[in-house]
Amino acid sequence: MMKVQTHKMTVSIDNQSSHLEVFKEFYQQLDEQGKTIEVLPRNEKEEYQLQAVNATLAHVWKQNKYYRQRLEEAGFEEPRIDNLEQLTAVPMLEKNVIRGDKEKLLCVDSKEIGQVHLTSGTSGKPIYTAYTLADQYVYDLLPKYLELFKESENDVAAIALPYEFALPGLGFQRLFQFAFGTAVLSLGKGGYMAPVDKSLELMKEYQATVLTTTPSYAALLAEESEKVGIKIGEDINLKKIWLTGEGCSPAFRERLEKWWGCEVAFFYGSTECGVIGVECSKHKGYHVMEGHVKVEIIDPDSGEVLPAGKTGEIVVTTLLREGMPMVRYRTGDLGNLKESNCDCGTTMDVLQLRGRMEHMLRLGNHDYSPFLIEHFLMEIPEVGLWYHLKLNQGVLTIEAEKFRTTLSDEQLSTKIKQHMLERIGVECNVVIRDDIPRTFGKAQRVFT
Ligand SMILES: [Zn+2]
Repeated sequence: MMKVQTHKMTVSIDNQSSHLEVFKEFYQQLDEQGKTIEVLPRNEKEEYQLQAVNATLAHVWKQNKYYRQRLEEAGFEEPRIDNLEQLTAVPMLEKNVIRGDKEKLLCVDSKEIGQVHLTSGTSGKPIYTAYTLADQYVYDLLPKYLELFKESENDVAAIALPYEFALPGLGFQRLFQFAFGTAVLSLGKGGYMAPVDKSLELMKEYQATVLTTTPSYAALLAEESEKVGIKIGEDINLKKIWLTGEGCSPAFRERLEKWWGCEVAFFYGSTECGVIGVECSKHKGYHVMEGHVKVEIIDPDSGEVLPAGKTGEIVVTTLLREGMPMVRYRTGDLGNLKESNCDCGTTMDVLQLRGRMEHMLRLGNHDYSPFLIEHFLMEIPEVGLWYHLKLNQGVLTIEAEKFRTTLSDEQLSTKIKQHMLERIGVECNVVIRDDIPRTFGKAQRVFT
């Protein structure tokens, strides 16, 4: 296709065609019926997902050597499955295979790449993902989720997420601007143009109504607001906070809700897969974004797909990608999946997250998710939002700060010990500190 310089948007996007064209029609029909994919009956959604999986399989078969070879090795003579259960026959994609390799999964000519994103590479070499402009500005915005997102052109959204390399900052920016027509304040996360005080000032000036950030940065902004004399609830009045990037426990979320005086909801996505799940107003887990992804839960050892409700590794297949589709991608995240019977009316499956496989803490004979321990810790109102969990030879030491309390260090330490013993039946050491470092990056809370 000819590209005309400086007219990339109109030429490449409007006139472009791909294996995903057919889905424009599908979503247009939904629009005309006044429906979204969130409320479709299960059989209709599965029909759509089957069609989208097959379109993706056909695309990677034709465009990508690695995917094709894997499919052929698995016995595929043509790139299609007859029902979603047969997806188990498609080989899974491991992180290690694509780490540090920017070509392996590429399914378009490199000239078609519009944006490159990288994972943070905290656990090894980064994973490169390449998106076409149409991926990001057309197909990613096709499925609408009007039950889950209430933002509109009347809102002002502050985005305090990294804009460099990774997907979150720019991903939310596109979502708010192009899907909802919301004005965006691109705060970033403590970059040199956006120190915390300036970010808070801008939120005040423009009367931000929505904040999208990580749990730890939401805590940092709240703390700093007190230092710079900006009053939450008066100078900044948010309607909603979206949390992403780091997991956090329900109790931590409730603490943030109290502090910020607004609803706080989780958003689960990744740089490789984009959006995966979003919490509704009932806060009973993440609704899987079934327009964008097909999610499976597998036994991490055997690779077998697990039945509904069983916890295992989350495996994601992207449905609307041309640049670099992810087919049965092993995320390394743990969770379980159930059919929705949620009061919000959304029929999309409900995912419970259980943290990352490598972050589980072995205490006694049990593995504990750090979020479960955080949850119990945050139930104690005198404990601050910054803490460390240190595991040394099977013994857990909790380092915690005091929060708006007259308790002495010793009293609080005793209270934490007793509470953890009641909750998880584990004896732990407690150290009360007042100097746990704040961070602009991902908060590191677990040390093993
Ligand atoms: Zn719901």
